[in-house]
Amino acid sequence: MSAGLNLAQLQAVNHLSGPCLVLAGAGSGKTRVITHKIARLIQTGLAAERIAAITFTNKAAAEMRERARQLVGKPAKDVVICTFHALGVRLLREDGAALGLKPQFSILDTDDIVGILKDCGGTTDAVTARHWQWTISAWKGAGLDAAQALAQARDDNERFIALVMAKYQERLAAYQSVDFDDLIGLPLKLLREHDDVRQRWQQRLGHVLIDEYQDTNASQYELLKLLVGQAARFTAVGDDDQSIYGWRGATLENLKKLPQDFPQLQVIKLEQNYRSTSAILRAANAVIGPNPKLFPKTLWSELGEGEPVRVIACDHEEHEAERAVARIQSIRAGSSAAGGSGARFKAFKDFAILYRANHQARAFEAALRKAQIPYKVSGGTSFFDRAEIKDLCAWLRLLVNPDDDPAFLRAITTPRRGIGHQTLAQLGAFATQYKLSLFEALFAHSLSAVLPARAVSGLHEFGRYLNELEHRARHTTGHEAARAFLDDWLKTIGYEQYLHDSEDSDKMAAARWGHVLDFCDWVAQRCGGQIDDSGGLTTEREPKTLLEVAQTIALIATISEREQDQDVVTLSTLHAAKGLEWPHVILAGVNEGLLPFKPDDDGPAEALAQRIQEERRLMYVGITRAQHTLVVSWLKRRKKGRELVPGQPSRFIEEMQLDADTTREDPRAKLRALREEFARRAGTPAA
Ligand code: ATP
Ligand code: MG
Repeated sequence: MSAGLNLAQLQAVNHLSGPCLVLAGAGSGKTRVITHKIARLIQTGLAAERIAAITFTNKAAAEMRERARQLVGKPAKDVVICTFHALGVRLLREDGAALGLKPQFSILDTDDIVGILKDCGGTTDAVTARHWQWTISAWKGAGLDAAQALAQARDDNERFIALVMAKYQERLAAYQSVDFDDLIGLPLKLLREHDDVRQRWQQRLGHVLIDEYQDTNASQYELLKLLVGQAARFTAVGDDDQSIYGWRGATLENLKKLPQDFPQLQVIKLEQNYRSTSAILRAANAVIGPNPKLFPKTLWSELGEGEPVRVIACDHEEHEAERAVARIQSIRAGSSAAGGSGARFKAFKDFAILYRANHQARAFEAALRKAQIPYKVSGGTSFFDRAEIKDLCAWLRLLVNPDDDPAFLRAITTPRRGIGHQTLAQLGAFATQYKLSLFEALFAHSLSAVLPARAVSGLHEFGRYLNELEHRARHTTGHEAARAFLDDWLKTIGYEQYLHDSEDSDKMAAARWGHVLDFCDWVAQRCGGQIDDSGGLTTEREPKTLLEVAQTIALIATISEREQDQDVVTLSTLHAAKGLEWPHVILAGVNEGLLPFKPDDDGPAEALAQRIQEERRLMYVGITRAQHTLVVSWLKRRKKGRELVPGQPSRFIEEMQLDADTTREDPRAKLRALREEFARRAGTPAA
């Protein structure tokens, strides 16, 4: 095969004259077709700047550019490789004048939009305004303007929102601003209404390529049609089984419409998978099987049977995280059963832990930090990078080590307690002069010589409070007492109020307060001895004092995320993992209620069935990210709100039809448990 392409891929790459659709399963080389086709087009003499390749995310665009660079060298930098939205920006910057838009228009973020909507609709309630934003965005995604939205509104509420939308659009025009949806909607309008602009773009673009076509929405499809015109020189690649953005308006109709709208469409199917072992593909095929099909396909690979897919039942989130870390460590140490072809893949970057929802990352972050394993969180914010968690960790660090100056500064200023910048600057200068930590400087006699009495007494008060906290933390043991300590502390420093004061929207403040409560639960659990932090297997242990727990947390909190490093374990939501691959994948929290996700209200049966189909596709996306080994873990007890409730394995696990013995517990874990048990009875710590 030429240049690492099979016959079907070559056919797609060489089809240059008209429209081409590559419809194929995961890992079959669709994205590879796009990069190779870019190279092919350049080879045939098409100027690089006349090629546009559209990806789903900015990150995917960067990766594609790098691949293209490897294939064709310098000219790759002139190829337009970006998302639909970024292409929209380009169109509007160049030709937006035809719509009365100045080239330096601004793009509004959610906060701006919510502010404008509150004003237009006469409400102060951010939740309502966000609901409007969501509805308006859905309408725009479906290609409706305010008048059309009004015409099709189903009730008074929708009619009202359509009127708000009309005002909102007027405001945006007046502000020379656009929102995210306009980046698709306005270029559409531009190309529809201005023949000269449309013709210019159609002539300019010699070929348009689109990755992840199954996740385009109605407006994006219209935009594509206008950009390619009659000549229809485009290549779309996609997989109906990986459509996971239905909730954001993506529609499989776009796949069905292509052959109708372009009768000359060349459809190419790929079935050989180059990514995963047969064991992994079998599980993937089994899970996606029950979904209705646009076209039947069965993935196969020549990479061999490989290691069996493993299912692990975990006691709770922390246990699951420990197991994941243990697995990463054992594969890296080369002692795992994950031998064979997988044995080559032992760098941190060869591992990914994937989950349904962002909050599931937290337990993994803590366990990875504790084991000093570098990681990055993609598709979400790291729990420990959240400002509120950093604030609280700063206080805990200070209890452990009052001389930690950065922690001191953070704690004394969040929330602010009437101690001004100037006072702190003077305290800092004083401390430097006498080679003291800020905390030590606080109690130095000569401090009153450089600071006014009021400032000194404010500082003393803070110092005394810290000492008191430290004393209490030293003597607080057990879950209940720890909870009471934490509640009392947060109340005393007024942290909840502080969040409300520093956030515009109550919803944001409430979300951040939710993280704080989560964090407190986590700390309290450790004090109760429910979770063991001393390594090894999770077992019920002696309760610990809050100060002891704070010591571990201080350590965990100060290890920073090493995003800039390339060799890191990836933590990612399933949605953000689309299109990517890793040698070793751990799919976590595969429980009923989590994956498939189950919100509290179920809604009508038909909607529920569709949602389950989308969740099934999500599971399929997750499984097919794995190249060599796949572990699927579920929780025997899972968090629901603030309680631990009994957990059930996801229906998808049973459907994966794994051999019974692969679902067994890891024998080494059992051995460790026995050893711990023995050690406990003998009254000595386990080795
Ligand atoms: P997804 O549906 O997950 O986006 P995809 O269909 O886009 O997957 P690619 O990411 O393009 O698949 O390819 C999967 C893996 O297989 C990549 O590592 C790619 O380099 C490799 N691959 C694809 N085609 C071939 C081929 N003909 N020969 C060797 N390796 C290939
Ligand atoms: Mg791909």
